[in-house]
Amino acid sequence: MRYPPIYFLKHMNMLVIEGFMVLLVSCLTIRTNLCSPNTPSLKTLPLHGHFDFHEVHHAARDFGNRYQFLPVAVLHPKTVSDIATIVKHVWDLGPRSELTVSARGHGHSLQGQSQAHRGVVINMESLQGPQIQIHTGSSPYVDASGGELWINILRESLKYGLAPKSWTDYLHLTIGGTLSNAGISGQAFRHGPQISNVQQLEVVTGKGEVVNCSEEQNEDLFHSVLGGLGQFGIITRARILLEAAPARVKWIRVLYSDFTAFTQDQEHLMSAENTFDYIEGFVIINRTGLLNNWRSSFNSKDPVQASQFKSDGKTLFCLELAKYFNLDKTDLITEEVDNSLSQLSYIRSTLFVSEVAYIDFLDRDNTNLYGIAAITNSERAGNCNLWEGA
Ligand SMILES: Cc1cc2nc3c(=O)[nH]c(=O)nc-3n(C[C@H](O)[C@H](O)[C@H](O)COP(=O)(O)OP(=O)(O)OC[C@H]3O[C@@H](n4cnc5c(N)ncnc54)[C@H](O)[C@@H]3O)c2cc1C
Repeated sequence: MRYPPIYFLKHMNMLVIEGFMVLLVSCLTIRTNLCSPNTPSLKTLPLHGHFDFHEVHHAARDFGNRYQFLPVAVLHPKTVSDIATIVKHVWDLGPRSELTVSARGHGHSLQGQSQAHRGVVINMESLQGPQIQIHTGSSPYVDASGGELWINILRESLKYGLAPKSWTDYLHLTIGGTLSNAGISGQAFRHGPQISNVQQLEVVTGKGEVVNCSEEQNEDLFHSVLGGLGQFGIITRARILLEAAPARVKWIRVLYSDFTAFTQDQEHLMSAENTFDYIEGFVIINRTGLLNNWRSSFNSKDPVQASQFKSDGKTLFCLELAKYFNLDKTDLITEEVDNSLSQLSYIRSTLFVSEVAYIDFLDRDNTNLYGIAAITNSERAGNCNLWEGA
């Protein structure tokens, strides 16, 4: 045959087209991650820290593990001016460049908030500003970098007998990360969330300017950045109010099966005089037993007590309470706690009380406190069915 048949030519054409498509898609991928048009301009920026264009995959992940947007670069700033430089660069490029920038604290948000698709992620934890500075006196406060972890603030301030007033349940989060949300835990009913306990901020604005703000100075910026989800500026330093830290904590957990009783008791405690220092309620979907549900109170080796509860997989409501005290007040506190508890209508067989150091209470979701929870209730003997006690 002198000429190939038509079907053969068609087949060849299809192969060429398919090959071309594969090539195009691979080029796009490579261009997106490695050869972004923004990469060369970033390389020319004068920095004390550095960009990483290769080790960027960790910045495309967060605690939620649901969104993965790959940045073109991660900035590891050494100074506040590094952060100002990149933000100003993005501002100067204008909206057409599509280069985005995002601050990343400890990456514990859930929905890709600290990611920047084809943009620049700023690793706030590498910001090496002045060390944590504690100011004692009649109105004590701490100055710290926006990339500092709350656990480090706690450890440092405790050296002076002081501590911030309002917390999150988990302390391995950054100052900038929680202040750009709210920062809520069981102290919020008394002191407000963490954003209500900030005296002053240093912020890199969207134009790349470094600005101080407070209630008195640039107050719009101050109120926008606090709880602003990182959209109004990058917190590079924060001044946080402190109070005298207690030595010990009486830590209590009780369970309810009735939602109305649960919320009524919470409301009562929040408005009562001489009440607890920490009040938090949460729901337990008790499908796999208390041991797997009740956060760090128990582990599988621990106590009999949790494993004794049979709740038939029903939903429970847990009221978690804490009373702070110093050792000279132990007897008084025990009496006050007993008195407060006697007014509540939790399931009597579910009283769990332990006494721990203040730092261990605050860092409870990270510290291995397993095994210290103890039922002090006399009804604990033998197996108990929650619904009988209700
Ligand atoms: C195990 C766990 C327990 C938690 N417990 C609580 C809790 O008890 N109470 C509570 O309120 N929250 C809680 N959270 C939620 C947590 O407070 C927020 O997700 C917080 O944003 C995480 O801080 P991060 O340092 O990891 O911030 P990232 O996840 O890194 O960032 C979160 C957001 O803040 C922005 N951001 C980060 N740093 C800065 C900065 N310096 N300036 C401006 N914006 C910035 C980011 O761009 C992003 O939008 C918990 C989360 C986890 C995973």
